[in-house]
Amino acid sequence: MITDTNKKKNRCITCNKEFNKNDKTKPFCSKRCSYIDLNNWLEEKYLVIGDIEDYEKDN
Ligand SMILES: [Zn+2]
Repeated sequence: MITDTNKKKNRCITCNKEFNKNDKTKPFCSKRCSYIDLNNWLEEKYLVIGDIEDYEKDN
């Protein structure tokens, strides 16, 4: 079984910076990076939704 306890440091998936394990912001080094990632994710989602709205104009 693979456990995280082997690693002392995590790498932020947003800025790729090493940071001490912190359950509050994991897997990001900070709240800011988690927002950045969420933003990127939402933007992609918005693009998809935009396409759907364009497809069925129900407004
Ligand atoms: Zn980061």
